[in-house]
Amino acid sequence: MLIDHQGTTFRENIPAYSLGILEAEACVSLEAHLKTCESCRTELAALRRVCDNLLVALPPQPPLPRVRHRLQADLPSAQRLPHLRRNWSFSQLALGISILLLAALNIFSIVQVQGLEHQQVQLGHEIQTGQLALAMLAYPGTQTLPVKAENITGSLLIDKDRNVAVLIIWNLPRLHANQTYQAWFIDPVGERTSAAIFTPDPNLPFTSVSMIAPSNLSNFTGLGLTVEPAGGSQLPTGPRLFKIDF
Ligand SMILES: [Zn+2]
Repeated sequence: MLIDHQGTTFRENIPAYSLGILEAEACVSLEAHLKTCESCRTELAALRRVCDNLLVALPPQPPLPRVRHRLQADLPSAQRLPHLRRNWSFSQLALGISILLLAALNIFSIVQVQGLEHQQVQLGHEIQTGQLALAMLAYPGTQTLPVKAENITGSLLIDKDRNVAVLIIWNLPRLHANQTYQAWFIDPVGERTSAAIFTPDPNLPFTSVSMIAPSNLSNFTGLGLTVEPAGGSQLPTGPRLFKIDF
């Protein structure tokens, strides 16, 4: 182990050096040592990556196990007495970095868990609609109609006996945050009744929507899809993407 004239190992000074808070005298001797020591240079590079991640954003990956292990070993509670006497400032620095690191990892985990919960709700919805579509396809009375529009394909399943419909659409364009898609049941005189309000899940290539008719589905002869302000409209106001007659 290489030791400078103050009795500190060069390696121990690297974290303080990487944060720019090492005393000038120790800096000079550490820089001289770095020129000749490959392993200390690697250590410095690894620490700088960790520090950069902490300063800029949440770390996309945990730090190198070796770095974290060493920081933990340098905590006051993990140190033997002679060490404490010698290097208070470094221990406090290591403690600070460790707390930052743990806080960042914590926030990172919370964000990940929230993302998973959201995906689970979405998935539950997709599975329910998928099961309904399968049940409808197994029933001989179900009508299957193609969705035909520019760059959009899909199917509309209609079960007039049970007053349910399922719309499955591929490549539905993403909307602005203040917009939503709204499906409409259309009756023979052209009156529109809201059937569903939905936005595509950006994680899925298709969108599936189940709809229950407010009255007998036989009273309607078509289904239309429009873009509406977020929250939906009483009557269609936005551009229509397609209309399917059934
Ligand atoms: Zn070295």
